[in-house]
Amino acid sequence: LAKKAGRSCFRFYTTAIQEKAARHLQLVNALRVALEQQQLSIHYQPQLSMADGRLVGAEALLRWAHPELGHISPAEFIPVAEDCGLILPLGEWVLRHAVRQARQWREQGLELVMAVNLSAVQFRQPDLPALVARILQEEGLPASALELELTEGVAMYDPQQAIAVMNALHEQGVRMSIDDFGTGYSSLNLLKQFRVYKLKIDQSFVRDIVTDPEDRAIVAAIIDMAENLGLLTIAEGVETGEQLSWLRAQGCDELQGYLFSRPLPAAAFAAYAQQHQPATALLRS
Ligand code: C2E
Ligand code: MG
Ligand code: MG
Ligand code: MG
Repeated sequence: LAKKAGRSCFRFYTTAIQEKAARHLQLVNALRVALEQQQLSIHYQPQLSMADGRLVGAEALLRWAHPELGHISPAEFIPVAEDCGLILPLGEWVLRHAVRQARQWREQGLELVMAVNLSAVQFRQPDLPALVARILQEEGLPASALELELTEGVAMYDPQQAIAVMNALHEQGVRMSIDDFGTGYSSLNLLKQFRVYKLKIDQSFVRDIVTDPEDRAIVAAIIDMAENLGLLTIAEGVETGEQLSWLRAQGCDELQGYLFSRPLPAAAFAAYAQQHQPATALLRS
């Protein structure tokens, strides 16, 4: 009986792997078409200053609406794109369009920092600083209005190369932040050499800060350390007033989450910015 159960378990397992491989292949093929057929768009999520509730930034988040498969999460298709190399044209597309959007908003009087997610694969390209400089120049956006969100994994492959790329971007005036901080392979020693100006506290820590003493200790330590290193902090995934008050008491600098707004299509973001009342934004606690 045990043998039988073991075998069906194994069969179940291989089927799951086959299904996963089939889905992977399906997404690779679909992604190629998506780039050509304009199935991709970008949503923008507001980032607010804790000090005065002002709208200070927007994070560009890629969206994919496939005609048959429906909406596919970037959490699923970004890793696929990284595996098959499509992340390079995809990443360049996001960068160009987010920079273009930031410039258009600037012309309309909406000044904010545009934060764009970069894959570690993009970050490994030696010509990344040149590409960023070219896009900024062609689209007419000052480098100081662009922030690149990196994950802790960028340094795993080749720390020295990562530092060289960071130095080049820093010299251009582009800002860099570490996304999902605390979830990856962080070397605190590398943090010292990185030209980072902001840490994004991962939402998995923020979720339970009101109830979980361990998450609370971790977030408090990140904010403390950042302050001592002269870095800013932004909390991701802020959903409740209780989380907001605790983060305020801890001295977190910026906020992002559903409590303020979900990621929005460009037109809806502009409307949000127009209606946004800095004074009342932080009074929800
Ligand atoms: P991320 O960069 O950490 O982005 C934050 C994610 O949290 C977004 O998910 C956002 O919609 C979600 N979020 C924001 N506020 C809240 C909240 O209050 N509660 C909850 N539960 N979630 C919140 P999204 O848009 O599904 O993106 C998932 C991930 O996909 C991103 O995580 C990022 O790692 C990746 N990604 C998205 N766009 C791009 C892109 O253009 N390039 C690259 N390389 N990665 C991207
Ligand atoms: Mg991000
Ligand atoms: Mg994040
Ligand atoms: Mg994430």
